[in-house]
Amino acid sequence: MHSYHIWTIGCQMNKADSERLESAMGQMGLSPVPSPAAADVIVLNSCVVRQSAEDRTVGMLTGLKPLKERHPEKVVALMGCMVGPKTSPLEERFPYADVFMRPQQFEPLLSLIGDRLGIDAEGCVGPLTAKPDVTAFIPISHGCDKMCSFCIIPYRRGRDVSRPVQEVVRESRLLAERGVKEVTLLGQNVDSYGHDLPDNPDLGDLLAQVNDIDGLERVRFLTSHPNDMTDRIIDRVAELDKVCEHFNLPFQAGGDDVLARMRRGYAGGDYRRLVDRIRARVPNVSLSADVIVGFCGETGEQFEQTLDMIRDVRFDKLHAAAYSTRAGTIAARTMEDDVPAEEKTRRLKAVETLQEDILTEINSRLHGETVRVLTEGRKRGRWYGRNRNDKLVFFEDERDRKGDVVDVRVERTGPWSLKGAVVA
Ligand code: SF4
Repeated sequence: MHSYHIWTIGCQMNKADSERLESAMGQMGLSPVPSPAAADVIVLNSCVVRQSAEDRTVGMLTGLKPLKERHPEKVVALMGCMVGPKTSPLEERFPYADVFMRPQQFEPLLSLIGDRLGIDAEGCVGPLTAKPDVTAFIPISHGCDKMCSFCIIPYRRGRDVSRPVQEVVRESRLLAERGVKEVTLLGQNVDSYGHDLPDNPDLGDLLAQVNDIDGLERVRFLTSHPNDMTDRIIDRVAELDKVCEHFNLPFQAGGDDVLARMRRGYAGGDYRRLVDRIRARVPNVSLSADVIVGFCGETGEQFEQTLDMIRDVRFDKLHAAAYSTRAGTIAARTMEDDVPAEEKTRRLKAVETLQEDILTEINSRLHGETVRVLTEGRKRGRWYGRNRNDKLVFFEDERDRKGDVVDVRVERTGPWSLKGAVVA
């Protein structure tokens, strides 16, 4: 039997792509192996959001060269955001790789596998993930039209392209039939979904259709852009019973000058008003966000405005990163990366400390409350899952609870998770 090994780095979109490719290779009769050395087909799914991610991919690919030279019959493929519209620079740099694929474009690899290994690839690019779990990610759009000055995604992933509603609904239904209880609809900018489709359906329309699928318990979506978050979408989150009360809404910086240099298209006040609208319409909503510290020209005072935003909004989850230049972006071409590294580290630490204090306080309010958890699996002898607000919850139970929706009374809280006991 032939085998494959997929190495993945980066965001949920990449993980979803790798799962889809696994599914396709599974349908061709290949089985997964844990190391490249044992695999007939080796795939690296790359990320370019940060230079370090690209460097790791290059390191992995370079490390495969001796193996490929010893075993030229092995197929080596690079996929994901490192592969732009033109593959010739990569072909020159990595001549021993057999195939370069843009995100979600698996056909070149599958037909190569078909030729090399004598397997029929016809009809194998199915939407099913290889081994659906309790939760699954479904890409609904691809690329981004926004051109934030720090971001490389629009150059690598291209323009924002939506998958047809029926295709997403069909995939969600198939996953539900195979036992998936929660789907997360993914896009770089999920709120602009449908702008390029006939009749312009929006994310709200798609959520309504996925909400109707039997067997699904929960529906989530990410990532949102504040400028494309409409009242229609907010209303759907408020109304649809399976759509979870959670928004992933990056703000990136608190100060208007920094936001303008980032080309985010909104000011701090706009973001705050949007949060107010969401909170007024969706009771018990939770919010997560991304923030960048130490962007080009960010003064100490401007950084304080970021801390003010965090203090005022009180996010339920915050992903903070120190700015690092990405070659090819608008910021790299036109701005100076002038905040010293140690100052970026200090700002990052200040954000993390503040956020930890806020989360400790927010979560402590859940002590003694009962939360409804969709159980995803087991870790270190305990079951874990999340409530609708995306809070991680651990509990103990002798029974197999995977996939069950369980009421848990919270007995311990901390900034990153809750622990409790099953309510009889
Ligand atoms: S919205 Fe901005 S940060 Fe997000 S993918 Fe698009 S360009 Fe990048």
